[in-house]
Formats: sequence, structure tokens, C-alpha cells
Amino acid sequence: MEDCLFCKIAAGEIPSNKLYEDEELIAFYDIDPQAPLHFLVVPKQHITSAQELSEENAALLGHIYGVIARLCREQGCEKGYRVVTNVGEDGGQTVPHLHFHVLAKRSLAWPPG
Ligand code: AMP
Ligand code: ZN
Repeated sequence: MEDCLFCKIAAGEIPSNKLYEDEELIAFYDIDPQAPLHFLVVPKQHITSAQELSEENAALLGHIYGVIARLCREQGCEKGYRVVTNVGEDGGQTVPHLHFHVLAKRSLAWPPG
């Protein structure tokens, strides 16, 4: 999609600090980290948010969570981590392209603000 920041990062048109990439998704470090380890997992397909998902996206979501588990193993997140996807205004979403935050390497408070 034109004028979408994460579509441009996925296409390599805007640089990112990349951890992992395959045909379906890209994972890169968040530019404004909220934890010692904070990366984003982003499908290359433009999906605005989790609110756009349906059962048809089951394989993609399984792949995303499989990659997250593998990256967290590789990054040494054995103490745990949090996966978050913000949806819309009240959810605090600022980039309208589906992405999963992975936050790790500190104790995370609950409930979130
Ligand atoms: P959200 O607010 O949930 O939509 O998350 C968007 C995230 O994208 C924020 O944590 C931003 O810090 C991050 N972000 C924005 N621009 C970039 C960029 N160019 N590279 C990496 N992360 C970015
Ligand atoms: Zn997009």
C-alpha cells in the first residue's frame, strides 16, 4: 500500500534494523524501544490491524507466532517476554499496518497503562 510506513520497510524502501525476514514477514528492532529488547514482527501483506483478521489468516498468524518463539529462543528470552498488538485509537496503535511488538529483558508491569 502506498504511503504506508511498514509496507515501505517490508519492501526495503525505508531502512530498518532487521533481525529476520522471509517471504511473508519481516522482524526489525523498534526505533523507540520500550524494553531492553523490543522488536516488531510485521507481515509483508498490508493488513491494517488485528481487527481485519479472519480465519483465513490462520496460517499467517501461526507462522508469525512460530517466528516469534524462535527469535525469542535465539535472543535468550528464557525469563519470558510479552507479545502485543495494538488496535486502533484506544488501543494505542500509531502505525496502521498490523504488527506485533515483542518486549523482553525486563519485568513488565500488568495491567498496561
Ligand atoms: P504502535 O504504536 O503499536 O502502532 O507501534 C508502532 C511502533 O513502530 C512504535 O513502537 C514505534 O516506535 C515504531 N516505529 C515507528 N517508526 C519506525 C521505524 N522507522 N523503524 C522502527 N520502528 C518504528
Ligand atoms: Zn502497509
